[in-house]
Amino acid sequence: MSLVKTISESLLHFLFPHICSGCGTDIINKDSLLCLRCIDELPSTNFSSRSDNPIEKKFWGRIPVTCGMAQYYFTPQSLLQRLMH
Ligand SMILES: [Zn+2]
Repeated sequence: MSLVKTISESLLHFLFPHICSGCGTDIINKDSLLCLRCIDELPSTNFSSRSDNPIEKKFWGRIPVTCGMAQYYFTPQSLLQRLMH
């Protein structure tokens, strides 16, 4: 039964490949949008670990904010922009 499942999954992958939206590789988890290499290359901000979080600072004195967060830096013509579009 396992062999039949493996063959059918391989055939489905051949006919309908699930590829990384960043680099186009087909070595990707079927539930993911990006491969691990592309995820690792996204420019993380690490703002959540900083006491002087720049996102929270943008709102200080304007509106009451308890927490602000930006997961990644945005740069034009980057993978992140392509994913957003
Ligand atoms: Zn990739």
